[in-house]
Amino acid sequence: MKTILVTGGAGYIGSICVEQLLDQNYKVAVFDNLSEGHRKAVDPRAEFFQGDLADRTVIRHAMEEVKPDAVMHFAANALVGESMENPSKYFRNNVASGINLLDMAVETGLKKFVFSSTCATFGIPERVPLDESLPQNPINPYGESKLLFEKILRWYDECHGLKYVALRYFNAAGASKVFGEDHRVETHLIPNVLKVALGQRESVDILGTDYPTPDGTCIRDYIHVLDLAQAHILALATSESGQFNLGTGGGTSVREVIDACRAVTGCDITALEKPPRRGDPPRLVAASDKIRSVLGWTPKYQEIRTIVESAWAWHQQHPHGYGKQKN
Ligand code: UDP
Repeated sequence: MKTILVTGGAGYIGSICVEQLLDQNYKVAVFDNLSEGHRKAVDPRAEFFQGDLADRTVIRHAMEEVKPDAVMHFAANALVGESMENPSKYFRNNVASGINLLDMAVETGLKKFVFSSTCATFGIPERVPLDESLPQNPINPYGESKLLFEKILRWYDECHGLKYVALRYFNAAGASKVFGEDHRVETHLIPNVLKVALGQRESVDILGTDYPTPDGTCIRDYIHVLDLAQAHILALATSESGQFNLGTGGGTSVREVIDACRAVTGCDITALEKPPRRGDPPRLVAASDKIRSVLGWTPKYQEIRTIVESAWAWHQQHPHGYGKQKN
């Protein structure tokens, strides 16, 4: 049985990946500082280490105790807007702390690393859909921090033989039956729309209506978090290092997402047209050919409606997320 150490396993995507690994008979240990994650989001079948990646001693302790066959590294700050206000936080946590993890991985003989990267490493793409050959020119510190880490991974492979897979997520959405999306400060579209349906917000903002898209709102590639988790599990099987864009290849506008939420919830969701958010590219859609052919990944959930249904089921069962206590 293979053992996986999952950093950020108390966060949204990490928690669901942990659950899927356990369901597929992996042994899992979670490493998380609970700054963004929730203790209740850690699957009870997993071992839990509370620690911060700024601290090499606790990472070493976890690595020596768990002796993982692979590390999946989700722990990071991931808000574009916040990264523009506080770039230092993004370079410290996403790059410097990540190097601590890599160093402890190398020192303890780890051979395989799966990294949560992002389509934000591309900035404003010169063509859509985005394939892996496009130049990466991030337009915010968040994207830059993830790109830096991708580059560092390349050198740790070259110099230390640490094999890695970097998965560049497009828009993760949806929930499993048990775990879902609960950010302390919610900026994401789908949970914010569903909060209106839950009666927790009066309305949702449409951030920008003059984009060069058919209905004037931004288009994104929403990928079900369960499909995303499966890509991580497939990444464990390859012996080659590589980077993969990870989206379904479908594009959905903000207005279409809100309409899907109206259809799924049966609620008349009030949407207000507002100015655009700083740093939002008009259209981000993945070309997923490489991950399909190299890793054999196929998304099971293509329809925005199915993705929203799973999110809605979770939010109805957890109207206050994991509870508002810190952990
Ligand atoms: N968005 C919006 N209203 C919101 C939150 C987001 O119109 O309350 C838009 C946002 O400008 C972007 C899309 O919805 O075009 C997806 O945003 P989200 O924050 O979910 O993900 P991102 O693409 O920024 O990673």
